[in-house]
Amino acid sequence: MDDDIKAACVDLTDILAGMRRGVAFTGAGISTECGIPDFRSPGGLWTRNRPIDFEAFLTSREMRNEAWRRRFAMEVAFGGATPGRGHRALARLLEEGRLAGIVTQNIDGLHQASGVPDDRLVELHGNSTYATCLDCGERYELGWVRERFEARAQTAPDCLDCGGPIKTATVSFGQPMPGEAMTRAGELTAACDVFLAIGSSLVVWPAAGFPVQAKRNGARLVIINREPTEFDDMADLVIHADIGDVFEAATTS
Ligand code: NAD
Ligand code: ZN
Repeated sequence: MDDDIKAACVDLTDILAGMRRGVAFTGAGISTECGIPDFRSPGGLWTRNRPIDFEAFLTSREMRNEAWRRRFAMEVAFGGATPGRGHRALARLLEEGRLAGIVTQNIDGLHQASGVPDDRLVELHGNSTYATCLDCGERYELGWVRERFEARAQTAPDCLDCGGPIKTATVSFGQPMPGEAMTRAGELTAACDVFLAIGSSLVVWPAAGFPVQAKRNGARLVIINREPTEFDDMADLVIHADIGDVFEAATTS
């Protein structure tokens, strides 16, 4: 770690020490050290597969089959992932009462796995560890979906109650954002004294609006990301380094 980054980590330690109602806003970058690729980095998920948007999922059985094939392939590749240093540091800050909540764009369930309770976590893009019927909202476990899928030559099953399409409980491109999650994220952001944007390219709207909202409300904005973001100029502290290394340095210095 070079001297500039070390100095920035000391600044981060000071900010974390004074934080009283912080919000951590996390993206795929916090989970890359857990072996889950992000979207936009080289080797990221987008360089392999174009995402299936909501309209395509709704209108095409073949796209639904493909979406489930990808989901089960991910299970094999990343199913055993455990929380990384960033997840653990944030869980600690929450326990110490410095963070009021965590708002995540991730769908991997690793904040919960690090011990963060549901009432402190807002999942803006949902969760890929279970599924729901898009028409009636009935919940389905992935094991059940998988059994049906395999038993019917990799055909996506429909809802037992209403015949509607079953999809992981995630928010796809073109799918409306969950209203309750947006409201909770907005409330946390409006009330925070420090907003930590961690491992997000901050290009996906409306999620990327939160750092701006926090700043407008007078919070201090900290950005931790390996590469520059559009909001770096607006931030009070920017650290371009590995998230795990930064939290390790900031919480032990
Ligand atoms: P993104 O891929 O657009 O951005 C991730 C950012 O993190 C990049 O700028 C990258 O440089 C940075 N990064 C990667 N590893 C890092 C590390 N170890 N230290 C510091 N920085 C690092 O992801 P996004 O902004 O979260 O938005 C894209 C969408 O991707 C989200 O909607 C999310 O739902 C979805 N997604 C989620 C997961 C997951 O749940 N783990 C994985 C891939 C994509
Ligand atoms: Zn249904």
